[in-house]
Amino acid sequence: TRTPLIAGNWKMNLDHLQAIAFVQKLAWTLGDAKHDFGDVEVAVFPPFTDLRSVQTLIAADKLELAYGGQDVSAHESGAYTGEISASFLKALDTGYVIIGHSERRQYHAESDEIVAAKVKAAVGKGIVPIICVGETSDDLEKHGASAVPVAQLRAALEGLPKGTDVVVAYEPVWAIGSGQAATAEQAEQVCAALREVVKESLGDDAAAATRILYGGSVKSGNIAGFMREPNVDGALVGGASLDVDEFAAIVRYKK
Ligand code: 13P
Repeated sequence: TRTPLIAGNWKMNLDHLQAIAFVQKLAWTLGDAKHDFGDVEVAVFPPFTDLRSVQTLIAADKLELAYGGQDVSAHESGAYTGEISASFLKALDTGYVIIGHSERRQYHAESDEIVAAKVKAAVGKGIVPIICVGETSDDLEKHGASAVPVAQLRAALEGLPKGTDVVVAYEPVWAIGSGQAATAEQAEQVCAALREVVKESLGDDAAAATRILYGGSVKSGNIAGFMREPNVDGALVGGASLDVDEFAAIVRYKK
């Protein structure tokens, strides 16, 4: 059985002071609701400049919140101006890192090869990659929903040892920030296909253990439908993760 993961991708929002206030309020809100973190894991993905503050707060107050970066360099160290290495993230006790988000693929020309190299860099330092895949509306029209995400995931997992711990996020590009979420049935269909890719690439045990998230206009009003699907194990939430009450309501989808 897989522990569901609700992950908040803040994108380029909240500076480190705002991040501290936000994480404190989130912890209080979930604490008031007696949220059981063994039941649903919660993770936040702040900008790099917030990570040290978030780490310090979570450690000091012993908050049961995971956190991660929104990207990582494929390189170990050296002359790569502006990049952040997996070692730097590891030094901040970062558990996860989002890799291959569609905004990085689109605005920073991240190819499947770059995504695969970044996945290897993260795994090499013991950081669990959250590998993002998803089709554009154009892809959807031309190839259907599954073909592009399946090919992207195959490329991202290429060469990883069997049993590698990864998280997959299916984010149809047309659903991101559009208010137009996929239906639970659409998400299930693609997530089931992605689980088959994990099985081929990483083996049966990994396929059974790997969390596959849905992302794209997730809100408190539609989360329960996604979570009822057998192959959807959580959500990667953008806009709705920036409102404490809304994000907490998503985390408490069972209630
Ligand atoms: P929205 O939830 O704002 O649609 O964003 C989804 C996303 O891109 C999360 O990574």
